[in-house]
Amino acid sequence: MNNLNSFRKDIRSWLAENCPHAMRTPMLEKDICRGGRNPVFQSEEQQIWLKRMSEKGWTAPTWPVEYGGAGFSKDQAKILREELSLINARPPISGMGISMIGPAILEFGSEKLKQQHLPAMAKGEVRWCQGYSEPNSGSDLAGLQTKAENFGDHLIVNGQKVWTSYGDDADWMFCLVRTNSDVGKHSGISLVLFDMETPGVSTKPIKLISGTSVFCETYLDNVRVDIEQVVGDIDAGWTVAKYLLTHEREMLGKLGTAPTEKSVKEHALDCLGVCNDRLTDEVMRKELIDWEIDYLCHQLTMERVNAEIASNGVGNTSAMLKYYGTELNKRKHELLVSIHGSDSMHWENNPISRQWLRSKGNSIEGGTSEIQLNIISKRILGLG
Ligand SMILES: Cc1cc2nc3c(=O)[nH]c(=O)nc-3n(C[C@H](O)[C@H](O)[C@H](O)COP(=O)(O)OP(=O)(O)OC[C@H]3O[C@@H](n4cnc5c(N)ncnc54)[C@H](O)[C@@H]3O)c2cc1C
Repeated sequence: MNNLNSFRKDIRSWLAENCPHAMRTPMLEKDICRGGRNPVFQSEEQQIWLKRMSEKGWTAPTWPVEYGGAGFSKDQAKILREELSLINARPPISGMGISMIGPAILEFGSEKLKQQHLPAMAKGEVRWCQGYSEPNSGSDLAGLQTKAENFGDHLIVNGQKVWTSYGDDADWMFCLVRTNSDVGKHSGISLVLFDMETPGVSTKPIKLISGTSVFCETYLDNVRVDIEQVVGDIDAGWTVAKYLLTHEREMLGKLGTAPTEKSVKEHALDCLGVCNDRLTDEVMRKELIDWEIDYLCHQLTMERVNAEIASNGVGNTSAMLKYYGTELNKRKHELLVSIHGSDSMHWENNPISRQWLRSKGNSIEGGTSEIQLNIISKRILGLG
């Protein structure tokens, strides 16, 4: 315990000295640092923050030092998280590297893959995208048809992926392919990694209702993938894919509790009528209180689940967090639109309407709410 106390003191004083003040303010989507080969930094402080944190291994604190992490125990990582949150520090890097494919490579990847990919991921030098969904397989992910023929030292991949977030900005893709069509659909899948600049890879952006275009269709036309870029065993990719999804769902589950520049209550107090510190609109008052109670309960549930994960690893509870956190986030944006009324309906430079539309995708990405409910009923509640 004493060791952890002095550990906390050291972390606190390092952060006080090294976290730039501009990195201690709430951020909008545009401020997220995504790194990559051609990184776009919003400010010099953002670049400094990423450099300082990654030099300490604190962008991936529980990863071993030789793979770019800090080798922290779960307790030490928790202290770091708490201290970062205490000063409202922004995440130095976000994306599908550290939070999704990184943990899967750590768990299932060869030593060569770990050395090649993890340190660069921890430094934010490579931006990743996810090639799971296909035009005819989303919820039925195991029905995927992108085919990879095995030529011993390499695979040749042909097929199409869809809804590839940031596919056109990413440097590498982690991709599910069918390596065996003669076995049950879950058994003949492999998870492969390839550079998006490999000949035969092309992307086409899909325009969204929110006006931006973060999605792509990704076409794979005779793409050569080194056999060493298969994560885990060939044909055994379904296990790796599911493990990775638990991390994705856990990450998405945090959406409902992500801090924002202004709380929903502050929005309401600024925009609606107030009498004796109470909102005069009874309906809005009730909706806001209901949401705040559910928000608090979700935060507490996340803390409990995090403690369980620390001892047992990520499991099916990620479906629960994903379901509730994303539904909660959608409710939050509905509330904000109600609070701002017709003001929220104009479009240009209006984060309220854009974030409201973006939140609609939360209960679809990473597996729909219906699919999470299926998982909860079968694997958590044991209902048949
Ligand atoms: C914002 C966003 C980002 C995304 N990013 C990526 C990405 O980077 N990479 C990637 O590979 N994919 C990505 N996706 C795709 C996402 O994973 C799929 O959209 C999702 O899995 C659903 O698949 P689908 O769109 O084919 O819908 P379908 O599977 O066709 O589902 C249609 C409807 O039927 C329901 N349904 C289907 N099966 C069942 C069932 N068994 N029981 C009950 N209801 C069912 C669904 O809940 C849904 O309401 C993203 C999606 C969004 C919205």
